[in-house]
Amino acid sequence: MASAKASTPRPQTAAWLRSSNDISQQFLAFGGRADVVSLAGGLPAAELYPVAEVQAAAQAAIARHGATIMEYGPVEGLPALRQLIAARASAETGGTFTAANVLLTTGSMQALDLIGKVLVDPGELIVAQAPTYLGALDAWRPRAPSYRPLDWTLTDPDFDATLARAKFVYSVPNYSNPTGVLVSQERRVALLDKVLEAGTWLVEDDPYLSIQLDGSPGPSILSHSVARSTRPGPYDGPVIYLGTVSKSLVPGLRVGWVIAEPGMIQNLALTKMASDLSGSLLTQAIALELMEREFDHQHSRSIVPVYRERRDALLREANARLADWFEWEVPVGGMFVWMRSKGDAIDTDALYKFAVEEKVAYVPSSVFDFTGENRFAMRVNFTRSSPEVIAEGVRRLARAIEHYLSA
Ligand code: PMP
Repeated sequence: MASAKASTPRPQTAAWLRSSNDISQQFLAFGGRADVVSLAGGLPAAELYPVAEVQAAAQAAIARHGATIMEYGPVEGLPALRQLIAARASAETGGTFTAANVLLTTGSMQALDLIGKVLVDPGELIVAQAPTYLGALDAWRPRAPSYRPLDWTLTDPDFDATLARAKFVYSVPNYSNPTGVLVSQERRVALLDKVLEAGTWLVEDDPYLSIQLDGSPGPSILSHSVARSTRPGPYDGPVIYLGTVSKSLVPGLRVGWVIAEPGMIQNLALTKMASDLSGSLLTQAIALELMEREFDHQHSRSIVPVYRERRDALLREANARLADWFEWEVPVGGMFVWMRSKGDAIDTDALYKFAVEEKVAYVPSSVFDFTGENRFAMRVNFTRSSPEVIAEGVRRLARAIEHYLSA
């Protein structure tokens, strides 16, 4: 009977999906509403996207490659773009990188997913900077890893043993998501030494490199790793470096890359094939056109002053209206200010309800926490909206806090 069939319950989704924290999805959906000021997303300013240049690059790419970029690609990606990225890495680090050190991915998000699949069996250990980028936690959730926080002081005597058990260490040293923090050169070198000693991998996720608001961050951990290497030939160290054009060009190209030793690249490529057969040669060829003439660098130089003005507008308004309740460091790059509740007085999950009433969105700290326990901070974005809209968002946030405190 058809009606009996229709009422038979279908199988449940997998356990990891049922147990995942959906508060970020609620925030992102709410933040997308036209009447809401969103300080929640991690998005660039859409009005600054270089539409004409991407259009011209698309035409140039098709004229240059024709039907070949309309095929399934080699799974490692467009050879000319892999070579360009290898050449840049060689120039920037002083090392030897070839196309064999490079895998193109669908944004660095796919790289995070592939790394989890290649390295982590259920229950195995990841050492991650805490708080952790939500996308990384989401990517690795199906692997059911256990986590330990990255102790940047490196003084905990147990940390060495923890590192020795870890499948990899995850860090965003440049203007981290969610905290905006820039990791010092001393700490980078010290961490690398520990990783080499422990014989594990170090995932250096670097999407915000191009958003340098004050000064420059100095060498990547990959560069330090090159300096530690004594063997000639292509890079064979422990760093798995992730890059992307999402901030330096546009996220819609979905072009990212992994730079790592060739064996790791092969494992990631094999895994990528099982996931999507190959990335889009079409968008990789567009990125190639733009990167060959260093348009990504030029574009970054043009958007940085706009982002700096927006950061300053956020901080001005926050100093005037939020400083009684929250404290923060001024980020010298990236897209976020991490606001911590003074004396843990404000639970940012609970504040959410009042923010909804005031039509302002932020991301609460709990979603960036693998223990789910940090409920006293929030990530505030300053790149997406104009200074006026950002200031209005802070005023709404201040009202939401007042209502929360008097409820
Ligand atoms: N890593 C971090 C730390 C991020 O913040 C993001 C998103 N902004 C990504 C990776 C993914 O970037 P994409 O896939 O757009 O390259």
